[in-house]
Amino acid sequence: MNHPKRYTITAALPYTNGAIHIGHLAGVYVPADIYARYLRLTGKDVAFICGSDEHGVPITIKAKKEGVSPQDIVDKYHAIIKTSFEDFGISFDNYSRTSAKIHHDTAQEFFKTLYDKGEFIEETTEQLYDEEAEQFLADRFVTGTCPKCGNEEAYGDQCEKCGSSLNATDLINPKSAITGNVPTLKQTKHWFLPLDKHEAFLKEWILVGHKKDWKPNVYGQVKSWIDDGLRPRAVTRDLDWGIPVPVEGAEGKVLYVWFDAPIGYISSTKEWAERVGKDWELYWKDKDTKLVHFIGKDNIVFHCIIFPAMLKAEGSFILPDNVPANEFLNLEGNKLSTSKNWAVWLPEYLEDFPNQQDVLRYALTANAPETKDNDFTWKDFQARNNNELVAIFGNFINRVAVLTDKYYDGIVPEPSEFSAVDEETLAAVKAYPEVISSSIERYRFREASHELLNLARLGNKYLADEEPWKLVKTDEARTKTIMFVSLQIASALATLSEPFLPFTSDKLKAMLNINSGDAKNSWNDISSKKVLLPTGHQIGKAELLFSKIEDDTIQAQLDKLIASKKANEAANRKVEPQKETITFEDFSKLDLRVGTIISAEKMPKANKLLVLKIDTGIDIRTIVSGIAESFTPEEVVGKRVTVLVNLAPRTLRGVESEGMILMTESEDGKLVFVNPDTSTALSKGDAVVPNGLHIS
Ligand SMILES: [Zn+2]
Repeated sequence: MNHPKRYTITAALPYTNGAIHIGHLAGVYVPADIYARYLRLTGKDVAFICGSDEHGVPITIKAKKEGVSPQDIVDKYHAIIKTSFEDFGISFDNYSRTSAKIHHDTAQEFFKTLYDKGEFIEETTEQLYDEEAEQFLADRFVTGTCPKCGNEEAYGDQCEKCGSSLNATDLINPKSAITGNVPTLKQTKHWFLPLDKHEAFLKEWILVGHKKDWKPNVYGQVKSWIDDGLRPRAVTRDLDWGIPVPVEGAEGKVLYVWFDAPIGYISSTKEWAERVGKDWELYWKDKDTKLVHFIGKDNIVFHCIIFPAMLKAEGSFILPDNVPANEFLNLEGNKLSTSKNWAVWLPEYLEDFPNQQDVLRYALTANAPETKDNDFTWKDFQARNNNELVAIFGNFINRVAVLTDKYYDGIVPEPSEFSAVDEETLAAVKAYPEVISSSIERYRFREASHELLNLARLGNKYLADEEPWKLVKTDEARTKTIMFVSLQIASALATLSEPFLPFTSDKLKAMLNINSGDAKNSWNDISSKKVLLPTGHQIGKAELLFSKIEDDTIQAQLDKLIASKKANEAANRKVEPQKETITFEDFSKLDLRVGTIISAEKMPKANKLLVLKIDTGIDIRTIVSGIAESFTPEEVVGKRVTVLVNLAPRTLRGVESEGMILMTESEDGKLVFVNPDTSTALSKGDAVVPNGLHIS
């Protein structure tokens, strides 16, 4: 769309069963906010819309676990999430919630319209049912093996490993998440959206129409979905938490959370429009409105296939112009996980780094997972702050403000004739709005943030090359010109940094005293105005924009993660269930002996295997053992070990292995020898028997 009249920008509705962490911020909210702020700065009409997603099964499961009502859960997290967004400057025009009446009404009306138009298939099918809990099992109420990738922890609605959207009955070996029972099948009536009916339209609209402008990761996922063939998808659920299905014969059923959640964008827009006196329909139904959905990659199917099919079926809505989904952010090499507490939570970040929201926004943008999964590391965070924000951006601004104060009592001096370098520098500054816009409008936010920093680099270099602190004693006129040019760059930075670093931008604007009057600039003013900061303008005192982050601060964060990992491992340690009972005769067949490792070497071309020579007391024999990732050969020589000596020999990579040594795992997952108590006098070849007795 070339010249939209207005923009409706949505950010994925966060699910209210936990706080917001850096992955959410990097994947969805920071890029969406940069986009919205940028558009507002260029004078565009923008509705930036979000809200809490408060329905669905995980909330009811969490409520059950904590012994509270689902409403208690959503109230708690809605408040936490909303505060985090405000704290981090995510500038939503409206932040609603799907438990609001306006949303229930809007979602029911939407369903009713499709129902009346005959857009649904009504079907009585067999669904998984938990006899003990007396409840149908859908979505997260059931886990099992993904039929596509074999992941054993897939949910009844989606496999988080391969991203496939599933029906509960697709799962192999399904298990109830409530009781752990194997579910039975029971008949129930539901309404389905026949996605197959919309396949031709989706193909044309996305695969042909958006081949060039949608991100390859998004386009690719959509294509593989469509190529796989689309099937009807249930839009209702047997559940007591959600929006009641507004037709007869649907008692005890609610709208499927993925049907109601995206409608939340519409109801949140309505809520906003009512408050500010606008017409919500223009933002959702006018063809000159550009609709953009910011989401993470786990939501691509819902925003590129299911929701557009719903909008198309309804008939009066526009479709998204783009869905710039990001890939996932990892943390220190591991997947972010709420349940494993492997995350940096926003409320905790603010406690540890008060008033440093922009540092996190910047680090997440500069390293955003735009085209592939990316890793957040605290070292990178520190480097982004110290080497870029402090050393380049902050340093430049500080020098300009301090020198202007020192030489001219904070008054912008009058320039004399510009040198060629001055002209070039001023021309370069004027080019930045276009350069940064071009990146932002193609949803390349990391590139845009690098360009912003390049503008600060330009300022830094200019000052370092021109050295006004040397000239001030000999050439007053030239010094004034240099400071005038530097102040223009500082002013451009104040405006152009706003989408990325809103708190810093505010601080800088206050410092330069440019929040009103002639010196106040829009995005486009940076290119078009001859002078950004006029001669005679009074600026304020220098204030530090960023401060250095020390190594021990970073180490404290790393220690916190290590502690969290340990706590999680201890909590989630799985004890293997007991194996089948055996008889004493079975057991007595095992011939276990005390042995000593007399030599060890790595098996060539095998990372895990050591070839051990063990003195068993009976003989010296070769045993190939899979312990090479835990021990070096040098470490194991001389060790006392317990050996199963009468195991049938087996040839591993050409080496005959005659027995096995007993190992176990320590709490942190390392292999440990099950070795004979060395304080008692054991001899090689002693047999190991039950009751702790030993017979020689
Ligand atoms: Zn899978």
